[in-house]
Amino acid sequence: MHEKIKEFIYSNKDFLLSVLDELVSIPSVKGEPVPGAPFGEMPKKALDKAAEICRREGFDTRICRDVVGTADLCPDGKAPALGILCHLDVVPAEGQEGWLTDPFRMIEKDGVLYGRGVIDDKGPLCAALLAMKCVKELNIPLKTGVRLVFGTDEENGSEDLEIYLADEKLPPNVFTPDASFPIINIEKGMMRSRFSGSFENGNIISFHGGSIPNAVPDKAECVIADILLSDIENAVLADKSGARFDIKTADGSVTVKCTGRSAHASTPESGINAVTALISLLCALPLKEGSQTDILRGLERTFPFGETDGTHTGLKASDEKSGALTLVFSIFNMENGSCTGCIDVRFPVCLTLAQVEAAERKALADAGCTFDGYMGDEPHITDENSDFVQKLLKVYERCEGEKGHCIAIGGGTYVHNVPGGVAFGAERGDTDYHMHGANEFITVDELLKDAVIYAEAIAEICGR
Ligand SMILES: [Zn+2]
Repeated sequence: MHEKIKEFIYSNKDFLLSVLDELVSIPSVKGEPVPGAPFGEMPKKALDKAAEICRREGFDTRICRDVVGTADLCPDGKAPALGILCHLDVVPAEGQEGWLTDPFRMIEKDGVLYGRGVIDDKGPLCAALLAMKCVKELNIPLKTGVRLVFGTDEENGSEDLEIYLADEKLPPNVFTPDASFPIINIEKGMMRSRFSGSFENGNIISFHGGSIPNAVPDKAECVIADILLSDIENAVLADKSGARFDIKTADGSVTVKCTGRSAHASTPESGINAVTALISLLCALPLKEGSQTDILRGLERTFPFGETDGTHTGLKASDEKSGALTLVFSIFNMENGSCTGCIDVRFPVCLTLAQVEAAERKALADAGCTFDGYMGDEPHITDENSDFVQKLLKVYERCEGEKGHCIAIGGGTYVHNVPGGVAFGAERGDTDYHMHGANEFITVDELLKDAVIYAEAIAEICGR
């Protein structure tokens, strides 16, 4: 069977490339809602195009509430047992420097495909579609069906799935080819919280640091009054954070700019936090005693520079399955007697949102601030010993010729809120495919291999 599938997939390379080309040429970036297109015209146009392709290939195809499309291959109209969840929306490429080709034209050069969406997630979607075409045209006997599900809002919070799930059900087993191989079965929980504080004005006229809630901030800047320049220079000399400080004086105040290194909130160890570095520098200065200074010291105690595991918030935790908790103090603004901030926590499956909230509330109160609320998700876990996951691993090992295993991550994938869901592809190893960046790419060979893996997965799970 493996050889027959492989032969079919490789002889349909042109089909794969032509449908991917059609989809890449639609700049399906989220836009303003218009009637019949809740996420903007372009995601809807991509949805209509994908549905048209699926219909043309003879799959039972529907569009649900203008946001999600489905294409079924089911024997005797039976409910599908397997779902393959992909997305058609992409992140913007406009204004993104470094593109060597038009991001919304698929370019093939030396076996490499370039274009926005070729890895995230239009390429893997086309590989999954080719896999279904393969199973259909080779007449591989099925006992249950498979459903390709293509959404249009993965990049901006997956509201498409919420709308879809209000009316419809996903099959009991779902994989998304929207992350990496072998299999991601555990995704840590996530809490992004806001806090605030108020104080009597002290030396700090203003502090602005970070702008993205889920990233280690690489920039922070503050204006300090009534301070000796030499005190600041000495503090900078003594600083061991690795951040860079640039000092400017004007009108009796001193501006200090701190530059660190950005990193995703799920891997904060690789960043240098400019907010906590600058707070620690301020705490080393002879500031006036008072409530503003108390808050800065409180925040320094609670979120010390260099700490990424939440020790001083009382949150430090880890478990064998999902690894250690990570915490990032990502945004901080202080001006005119008040301050606001943002904290991003990725927590292992041994904790719940309620526990993280309770610990943060207490830690922030100890620092003189108030916890103002959060958005978040509980951890996601799909049993690695389930029949479904074991079958996917078996297919992976057979096709890739290497041992498969399950992975836990700190980020969330498209199946974070899908019970029984796992991520299965399509990134391999340590390759940087420039996902969300300029010159996003995937090789033709990888996409063909993906299609083989997905066809085998369908046969393994749905076959007779
Ligand atoms: Zn994606």
